[in-house]
Amino acid sequence: MSSAPLRTDFSRDELEAEANEFRHHIARWVDERLCPQAEALDNANDFSHELFKELGDLGYYGIMYPETVGGSGLKYPFTCFSILCEELARGSMSFAAGVCMQGSTATHTVFQWGNENLHNKYLKPALLGEKIAAFAITEPNSGSDAASLLTRATRTEGGFFLNGSKIFTTNGTVADFITVVATTNPTQGLKGLDLFLVDTNTPGFSVGRKLDKFSVRSSDTAELVFENVFVPDECYLNNGVPSSFLNAYKSLTVDRIFTAALALGGGRAAYDSALRYAKEREQFGQPISKFQAIQFRLVDMLAKLEQSRLYTYHAAALADQNASITTEAALAKIVAAEGCHEVCEMAMSVYGGYGLMNEYPVQRFLRDSYFPMIGGGTGDIMRHIVSRQLGL
Ligand SMILES: Cc1cc2nc3c(=O)[nH]c(=O)nc-3n(C[C@H](O)[C@H](O)[C@H](O)COP(=O)(O)OP(=O)(O)OC[C@H]3O[C@@H](n4cnc5c(N)ncnc54)[C@H](O)[C@@H]3O)c2cc1C
Repeated sequence: MSSAPLRTDFSRDELEAEANEFRHHIARWVDERLCPQAEALDNANDFSHELFKELGDLGYYGIMYPETVGGSGLKYPFTCFSILCEELARGSMSFAAGVCMQGSTATHTVFQWGNENLHNKYLKPALLGEKIAAFAITEPNSGSDAASLLTRATRTEGGFFLNGSKIFTTNGTVADFITVVATTNPTQGLKGLDLFLVDTNTPGFSVGRKLDKFSVRSSDTAELVFENVFVPDECYLNNGVPSSFLNAYKSLTVDRIFTAALALGGGRAAYDSALRYAKEREQFGQPISKFQAIQFRLVDMLAKLEQSRLYTYHAAALADQNASITTEAALAKIVAAEGCHEVCEMAMSVYGGYGLMNEYPVQRFLRDSYFPMIGGGTGDIMRHIVSRQLGL
């Protein structure tokens, strides 16, 4: 993004108006549709096909894309997609994680480097929620150190054979297509990595297992296996330029803003619930909200959320201007993800013993708060990125 000129038609007032209108609609859907089901989905460890499709019908997967491919053609897509992530995570971080993947990284690769046929066959149905998308880079022995991944793409006539395995893939067991990062040249590290679109109906592809988690339980997470999976040339997402993974870096950078927004939404849910509880719960003849210790905790939570909001939407607005966001996106992820976790811990303490009971959602908020600190790169890796930007 840094090399592109800044947008000259950027207007802060216009952005606020588009954002407010957008938030109003999605917030209502979250309150009416997602919040009432979030607890049951978490208990059942279940991905909701019904809600996922409903968002597609409403057009929310197209926020980041132009109308030519079935997208919304919004003027401020990064801000609006961040709002989507935040509001959904307020209802269910799990559900929001799958939507975030569908609407950004997992479809961005096909939009950016897929031809018209792939747009028609995969991207457009995905934007309607008719097909589910995933993005797989992480492997059992390669997480933060992506350059060490072992999934191998070997040239054959008319395409490639993929061999290897992936882990922690969001939407993995339910995906219709997956952008897989594989190495075409293991001696080249990151420069040897390329992107391949794999249709999950292809022989040789299988889901190793669905992973059972203590956090974001109703987000689908899988281990995937590739055994001589043939990928035709058309699905080699390199647009004629080898080491196409380095291109996808931009989209992974943007994703950090969306993960920050997920954290903000999760933190808001914990804060709202603790505030309500503090006013209802009575001890020593009065609501616990009358005790200064509880009041200060709630104020500290609010301060963390406000800080997260400012960092997240500052980075999103920069992205909407085409400005460089490497540092800002990583900082937003650090501040919002760690802030959300602290807010959830404070919310737990407001609840006392009831916080540990599954009948109250605050334990879910705390469990889910681990996800934004890891998904899309850990806090250490974010600090590493910012350190490099500082020339350290
Ligand atoms: C619920 C969930 C969903 C996910 N979804 C996807 C997905 O859809 N697609 C996908 O490809 N991946 C996905 N991931 C994987 C995620 O991106 C990785 O878990 C993350 O990048 C960390 O990798 P790791 O788990 O292997 O940890 P490791 O890299 O093994 O890190 C372990 C610890 O070492 C630290 N560490 C590692 N390297 C350094 C360093 N250089 N400097 C300082 N500290 C370091 C880390 O910060 C961490 O504390 C998902 C993960 C989770 C938990």
